[in-house]
Amino acid sequence: VDIQRLEELDKKHFLHPTTSIKEQQEAGPAFIFQTGKGIYLEDMKGTTLIDGMSSLWNVNVGHGREELADAAKEQMAKLAFTSCFSTFSNEPAILLAKKITDLAPAPLTAVFFTSGGSEANDTAYKLARHYWLLKGQPERKKIISRTKSYHGVSMGATSATGLQGFREFTKSLAPDFHFVDHFDTGALRRLIEAEGPETIAAIIAEPVQGAGGVHVAPKDYFKEVKDICTQYGILLITDEVITGFGRTGKWFGMEHYGVIPDMMCFAKGITSGYVQLGGVMISEQIHNDLKELSSGTLLHGYTYSGHAMACAVGLKNIELIEKENLVENARARGEQLLKSLEWIKSERKIVSAVRGLGLMAALDFVDQNQQPFQPPVSPFIFKEAAKLGLICRAVTLNAQDTIVLAPPLIISKEETEKIIHILKEAIKTVELNYYN
Ligand code: PLP
Repeated sequence: VDIQRLEELDKKHFLHPTTSIKEQQEAGPAFIFQTGKGIYLEDMKGTTLIDGMSSLWNVNVGHGREELADAAKEQMAKLAFTSCFSTFSNEPAILLAKKITDLAPAPLTAVFFTSGGSEANDTAYKLARHYWLLKGQPERKKIISRTKSYHGVSMGATSATGLQGFREFTKSLAPDFHFVDHFDTGALRRLIEAEGPETIAAIIAEPVQGAGGVHVAPKDYFKEVKDICTQYGILLITDEVITGFGRTGKWFGMEHYGVIPDMMCFAKGITSGYVQLGGVMISEQIHNDLKELSSGTLLHGYTYSGHAMACAVGLKNIELIEKENLVENARARGEQLLKSLEWIKSERKIVSAVRGLGLMAALDFVDQNQQPFQPPVSPFIFKEAAKLGLICRAVTLNAQDTIVLAPPLIISKEETEKIIHILKEAIKTVELNYYN
């Protein structure tokens, strides 16, 4: 294979998501991945790296799982796709809807399928607004989201994303989205009062903010949010696109907080990224209300809602998570990871804070005056770690200087130690260069 040719073609023809086009044009792809096994990825030049981010927080059962390839092949050969509009259905979609509503806390009893997280969130906003229309409260259309949140890049999801850069990308956004500081329930209450409670359709929140830098809510935060929702009759939507399906050491992140939302969005981990699938679970009450109050058609649906092959892979993926006790493993390895990161913090001066839940973890960096580094050091740590064979993520949005980790849920104790060893070396190299 002519790798150089592929690099040239990549520069010329492939627009990469969330990338500096200029940098990509100048440097070309750093890695053209070719194979994956477990927590490891290998590129076309033979470089092996630990996938410390589960790629995009999603490859939960690890790379190269034949079982998922077999499930896809079997379903595709039988029936890859058929419409699920109106009265059409298929077996994998039905069984997956049953399975995930069994896993989710009652009364989340029905599912609307999408192809990913952005579509799931857009669906939730539309269902919430439609629900209030049917209830005779058309003025309830505002959605409250939180600063540092990330909900995706479709127009609705971008409009709900608290990370400002994403919203400034186009400036012109969907109307009726409002923001409040994450974890500040006093500010949430003031915003609702200022806007008028009767104008608020829903609040959306990630159980653990992911792309925003792994921010774990205080213990009572979501109970307070839920109380506020109940008091003002506002729907609570949780975005479990990252936290769903075991990532935090429980099936769903909200279980840590003992709060059940009215709608729950999911994607990523439902298929471990092997095929595109997402969706929204809704409560039995909303389901019933939609049935009772709606006289017409639910005019919302994607071609791929209930995609047979994607749902077959989802079913097999959940079977693997259950069979291999991966939710429990995420909890145990997550504790190990967090403890080891605390140890790195005690050893390295530039590390100012460590946080995490299950297999989502983050470290923040500051200079010798406890001030932010200018420029941030996390991109340099990311590069050093990659040189040593670890993919992590650097977060510099919203004035943060943070390294994030989210390895596959199949990770072993020894593999977790390997990540820690590499990260510590990478931080040490950068500290020696930037801290004097
Ligand atoms: N919501 C959260 C919390 C996410 O982290 C993401 C993606 O990273 C999304 C939504 C968007 O999902 P997708 O990229 O599948 O559209």
